[in-house]
Amino acid sequence: MMQQIKPCIWEAQGQASGKTITIIGGTHGNERTGVEVVLKLKSMIESGELFLKTGTVYLIHGNPRAIEISERGSEPFLDLNRSFPISLLMNEPTGVYEDTRAREIAPILQKSDIVVDLHATNKPSEPFVASMHSPYHEEVYQWFPCQKVLSDPGAVLAGEPVTTDEYTDAHGGIGLCYETGQASDLARVDEVTQNAINLLIDQGLVEGVVTPSICEHELYELTEPIILTQNGFTFAEGFGERSWELFTQGTTLGHHGPTPFVVGYDGVIVFPKVPEHRKVGKPLAYLAKRVK
Ligand SMILES: [Zn+2]
Repeated sequence: MMQQIKPCIWEAQGQASGKTITIIGGTHGNERTGVEVVLKLKSMIESGELFLKTGTVYLIHGNPRAIEISERGSEPFLDLNRSFPISLLMNEPTGVYEDTRAREIAPILQKSDIVVDLHATNKPSEPFVASMHSPYHEEVYQWFPCQKVLSDPGAVLAGEPVTTDEYTDAHGGIGLCYETGQASDLARVDEVTQNAINLLIDQGLVEGVVTPSICEHELYELTEPIILTQNGFTFAEGFGERSWELFTQGTTLGHHGPTPFVVGYDGVIVFPKVPEHRKVGKPLAYLAKRVK
């Protein structure tokens, strides 16, 4: 019933035609909740506990090499979730493992109506969604408990669209990343598995009735990265420990060497990196502001 069509890419077909939904875990190998959720869904489909009446489900372990070593990428500073430029399959292969793996996954994203890529953060964070702000995306993320939705219309994250959700959106589907909480925390595996099943029920792939919890989402947009310079960066007291730390206009968020870092708007800090993921010339955290 589940067929492995490429390494760690499994396909299940329903009895009748319907939507194509893809659930990915382990795009970053150290983010274990998604890895476990994919295994759980796979065994539920294999055992018949989860019966597909329509459509197609793809389950993917994003980066098997990184999962094996429980690291973000197959090597330090390689990142599968920065490996999906829109023109990926037209570009020359680079020979880097993450590029090769992205090419195996890309055709699945291209034919999916919906892609949910399960992530977790390296510092503590409440669960949140990273996706475009649209009613179509909301129809999907309403099944994944969160208060905050972070979008990146200005491609602040990488300068161009490169993530699984952006690649899906660019090819006509609805993509989102769900940040389930902190990477080491496996407490939400059962809950997130049920969230994914609720999505399958709502989209008609699985029999059942579900009602989303009514939740007003706060919408945020990435504004800028904080780039690590040769001078080093130290966060000010109370900042850099978790995602969604609030700051007000004019607050000193930290120092590049001796130089204070201050921004002229109210916002939040997201994705602060743990020291071992920091690299000179690269972002060490991002800032976002609330837009709705
Ligand atoms: Zn991740």
